[in-house]
Amino acid sequence: MTTEVVPLLEGRELLQLYAAPTGATPALRGVDVTVTGGRISAIIGPSGSGKSTLLAVLALRERPTGGELRHRGVLVSGLSRRRLHHLRRREIGWVAQRPTHSLFPQLTAREQIEQTARLRGVRCDVDAALAEVDLTARATARPSVLSGGEQQRLAVAAAAVGAPALLIADEPTAELDDESAALVLRLFRARAGQGSAVVLATHDVRAVTAADTVLRLRHGVLSGTHDTGQDRTATIDGLGRLQLPEEAIPLFPGGRVVVTVTGGHVELHRPRDRA
Ligand code: ADP
Repeated sequence: MTTEVVPLLEGRELLQLYAAPTGATPALRGVDVTVTGGRISAIIGPSGSGKSTLLAVLALRERPTGGELRHRGVLVSGLSRRRLHHLRRREIGWVAQRPTHSLFPQLTAREQIEQTARLRGVRCDVDAALAEVDLTARATARPSVLSGGEQQRLAVAAAAVGAPALLIADEPTAELDDESAALVLRLFRARAGQGSAVVLATHDVRAVTAADTVLRLRHGVLSGTHDTGQDRTATIDGLGRLQLPEEAIPLFPGGRVVVTVTGGHVELHRPRDRA
């Protein structure tokens, strides 16, 4: 007997149209996507390719114009507004691109965590949650007096309370220095370890390298999905030119690369790595 694992979310032919003065703009044009617990997925692609739209659809914040979205095997289009509200509150952590959009302006850092735990119906060690993102010293501060990086870390910590089934973040590391980005990415990994499905939209190579799966969007179409850390085959043309996978391109800003040939291996390094 085989037991089939039902994915947390399964989208088929997802279509999202927005009204625009020039006619309907398709932000998603037939996206197939599967989201499962225990993994970090990074959605990459140029600005305007539909990353935020896909996040909003997966977070059950927007109903797709077309296609099918299933949540634990159940068609989302058949769920009542009340049920959707319940799912969003209990099961989905959301970090908006502007972190203040996912924080309560009137609450202190400590209260944000407490309030989220209450709404989610979970117990939470608030001190540990603040310490996890290095905000112990800012426990009594409200968002308006926190720096951008602190707001971001707080928004992530609050969204992650209780290891929700789905943890979604839009560009969560874009404004963070290396140390803060590492804290946030470590937190995502910890929640994935507790079973959360973590989905990030990102341009940041630090976040892409931390992901298990990378989904590449282009003009609202998923142009590729692959698991990181796995070997892939690429072609070398007659002049010896190699096309790097798209997510590796940001590793070489300025298009400069140091090439080392050792035995049967070729290594590519950022010029500054070798300084
Ligand atoms: P990304 O996150 O990759 O930058 P978005 O999902 O924000 O891409 O946008 C995809 C496309 O949909 C863009 O052309 C954008 O202008 C359009 N779009 C996104 N949200 C809306 C909206 N609420 N109303 C109208 N057009 C939108």
